[in-house]
Formats: sequence, structure tokens, C-alpha cells
Amino acid sequence: MDVLSRSPLRNYINGQWQPAQTTDELPVYNPATATVLNRVPLSPRQDVETAVRAAATAFQDWRRVPAPQRIQPLFQLRQLLTDNLDELCRLITLECGKTLAEARGEWQRALENVEVACGIPMLMQGNNLEDVARGIDEMTFRQPLGVCAIITPFNFPGMIPFWFLPYAIACGNTVIIKPSEKVPLTMQQVTRLIAATDLPPGVVNLVNGAKTVVETLLEHPTVKSISFVGSSPVAQHIYTQAAAHGKRVQCQGGAKNPLIVLPDADPKLTTRIAADSAFGCAGQRCLAASVAVTVGQAQSWFPEAIAQAASERVVGNGLDPEVQMGPVISAQSRARIEGLIQKGLDEGGRASVDGRNPRIPGGERGHFLRPTVLTGLPSDGELARTEIFGPVLGLTHVETIEDAIALVNRSPWGNMACLFTRSGAAARQFRSEAEAGNIGINIGVAAPMAYFPFSGWKASFFGDLHGQGRHAVEFFTQTKVVVERWFDAWTRQF
Ligand code: NAD
Repeated sequence: MDVLSRSPLRNYINGQWQPAQTTDELPVYNPATATVLNRVPLSPRQDVETAVRAAATAFQDWRRVPAPQRIQPLFQLRQLLTDNLDELCRLITLECGKTLAEARGEWQRALENVEVACGIPMLMQGNNLEDVARGIDEMTFRQPLGVCAIITPFNFPGMIPFWFLPYAIACGNTVIIKPSEKVPLTMQQVTRLIAATDLPPGVVNLVNGAKTVVETLLEHPTVKSISFVGSSPVAQHIYTQAAAHGKRVQCQGGAKNPLIVLPDADPKLTTRIAADSAFGCAGQRCLAASVAVTVGQAQSWFPEAIAQAASERVVGNGLDPEVQMGPVISAQSRARIEGLIQKGLDEGGRASVDGRNPRIPGGERGHFLRPTVLTGLPSDGELARTEIFGPVLGLTHVETIEDAIALVNRSPWGNMACLFTRSGAAARQFRSEAEAGNIGINIGVAAPMAYFPFSGWKASFFGDLHGQGRHAVEFFTQTKVVVERWFDAWTRQF
């Protein structure tokens, strides 16, 4: 693959591939083997400046291209992504560690966002009313913002840029994307495909790097909006800084997602779905279940069943089709997760399955952990509050659904909450009262489809409008209201 052989990675600015103006670089690792796949430049301010100028110039023409024409390159991109799907899945597995099946699922979600954005000629419409007063009509138009910045995390290198990118450009904006420096290969390859479409130069720009790139985008007066996904402390910082610089901003942050198991839940299905939620993508999903709450008699079967599912999960290199769970992203991440497991034990918890120090044949140098299940964690302990972002599920117990809902609502996080039950009344109560942005009923990863917003509340989201669907269209457009009167023989009478 070309993105693996040409080093370091390059930036794509104004339709040209160019080296970053720096020798400052970081290695990009394969987390399953700890081998270096490539090197990513930490672009300096001047590269961001060049990209912003290119995007601002391109905006002048792009915003005037009619909406039905603006979506044509998206149809081309969809085809190119589909034609190159195997290679794109392999890249995600190589740099991020998840299994090929998980990478395929990720691309499915990315493609759906391209498809939804192709509806922009309808989605972007304003509204109007004739005769708001005699002879006067009033209407709204949705107009693009200008240069929009997109900053993404490591755990979905393909999907998350697509929560924003297709909508932004279909609405007539131009964009600068800064992928995570831990997984920059996927967007490098996607940008090659973007370069093969009829999108004019400067509409999509890619700038690799880390904090300096982000700080420059946050401060730059020409950048009109910031779309960010990552950890909550960084999300909050970016939200504050972007707002202080007068920008529109949406920041999706971290999570600690509870999954409530009522006594009447289907044991087999619930266990399978809960295990997939907690341990899929090695727990590195903002919609991973990280706390399972048994209610009443569910305690008699769920802890044992989930421990068994955890210990049976096949862990290894995600390129192996038999593997169900790959490594975590880095050695530092594994050390952090192991430290948090120890913290849980120190707080009085017990590991019914301890996934530390696993023996993975062929994966001796990789950043592997096995699934871990912790019981008896104190509800006011550090582990009950801290996002672990690894394959660790904590178990806790309450007596009633009201107690479970109270536990969900006490949490500072609000990305997702799930309920497992056969009772419609319980499901309805939970759906209505649980304070989280994404709710799953007998669903373990309540990931909204592209035509719904990817919600998130409390410490899991900073902003007003989320990614995907109509929220994205609203975020990437500003509303102009026109009040209009034309004098003619009839209106002159008034
Ligand atoms: P991260 O916050 O470390 O990094 C995210 C992005 O911010 C990267 O592009 C990084 O280069 C940049 N960044 C990091 N520190 C920065 C700083 N101090 N100043 C400016 N920019 C900075 O997140 P991560 O480790 O890549 O991703 C995992 C996190 O993302 C988890 O907390 C997870 O829950 C969250 N996440 C949330 C969602 C959601 O929809 N809510 C989705 C996926 C991931």
C-alpha cells in the first residue's frame, strides 16, 4: 500500500500533496505488533495558515456551485470508497487494532453518512410564508459558513470524519481535517480517493499533526466552525477556546455507559449483546458498556454468564478472521487500563475475570489485554466515575428500576444508557427518564444511524448541534431571514 511505503505522510492542501514544513514527526504503530507503519508529521502553524487560505479561496466558488452539483463528487466518493473497501478496512485494522469485521462495520456507517448528505438539495431547504403582512413575504435560506475544521480521535479513523465531512461540503463549505496523529493512515488514503473525485482544489484539505494544528485552527479568524470528537477534557478545552474566538462549535466527548439488566431480560441474548458492547473494539468505543447494573434477580445469572462470555472471547491480531478482539491502541493506553483495574481492586473490587498480562501467541509485543470483569466496585469510588476506554466491565447491583435510573442520572456522563427487559412499561419509563443522549432498549451499542443525530449529554457533549443528519446540516449552515415586499398596483393601495 502506497500510504505505508511513502514516509513521512503528507498534507493535502489546495489539491496538492505537500510535505509538512517540519522535521518534527511521530511514529505510527501497529498496536498488534508494535512495529512502525509510517511516520506522521506534526505540522506547524504555517501549514495550517496555507490550508486556511486555500480553503477560504475555494469557498468563494464552491458556495455558488448549485447544491445538486455539489453532491455529485459525493456519489463518486461513495463509489470509490466501496471499490476500495478491503484496503480501507485493512488500514484501520493495521493502525487502530480493531478486527476486520469491526472495520467493515465502521465503513458501513461512514458510507451511510455520504448517502444521507447526498440529500442536501432537500435537507438544506429553508422555509417561507406568503403574506406575513399585507403584500409582504418572509423566507429563510440556509447558507454555508465558510471554512470548517474537523478534529477526530483515534478509535474510528474512518467513520468519525464522515459524521461531518460530507455534510459540510455538500452544504457549500470548505474543510480542513486533522485526523488523530495515532491513526493518520486511513484519512491519508481516503484523501487520495477524495482527490480522484471532481471536487475542486481547496474544498477538502488534510493537515496532519497534533496540538499545534488544533490551537492554530481554534485561533484563526477565518475558520468559522470546529467539529471535534475526543476525550472530555480536550473537548471542554476546545469548546471553551473555540467559543472565545467566536466560532460555532460541537465537541463530542468521553463516556461511561451503564447497561441495566432487569430480571426478566433474556439471559442468553442479553449476555451476548452486553459482551459485544463491553469488549467489541477492545472497549475503545464511546458507546461501549462499561458498567452493567443488575436489578433484583438478574444478579442470579448475569454476573456468571458475562464472566464466562468475557473469558471465552478470542483475542489476537485483528487481521485474523477468527479473532473477536484486537489490542488497545498503545503501550501507554494498556498501562493506564491495567493501572485502573488495579485501582478498582484497591478500592475493594474483585476481578471475576482478570485480563491483565495475557499470553497471546504471536502477539507478544502487541498491546493486548483480555476482557476483564470487576465486581463489588464502590459506587462512589474513582473507577465508577472514570472512563477506562478498554475492555473492562464493572458490575454493580440495585434492587429496583428506579434505583437503576437514579444511578444513571447521578453519573456526570451522558453518552448512552441501555436497558434489557421484556417489559414495555419498564422500557418506556427508562426511555423517558434516563438522562443520556443515546438510549438503547435491548441494544448494547445504541449508535444512531446517519439520518439521526449522534447525541450525547452532560460531560459527554459540549455544544448544541451534534454530528450526522439534520443536526449536521443545521450546524454547517447559517439561517438568513428575508422579509420581502414588491410594490405593484395592489400593494400601493396600503
Ligand atoms: P483525544 O482527546 O486524546 O484526542 C482527540 C483529538 O484531539 C486528536 O486529534 C488529538 O490530536 C487532539 N488533541 C489531543 N489533545 C489535545 C490538546 N491538549 N489540545 C488540542 N488538541 C488535542 O482522544 P482520543 O484518545 O484520540 O480518543 C478517545 C476519546 O474519544 C475517548 O474519550 C472517547 O470516549 C472519545 N470519543 C467520543 C465519541 C463521541 O461521539 N462522544 C466518539 C469517539 C470517541
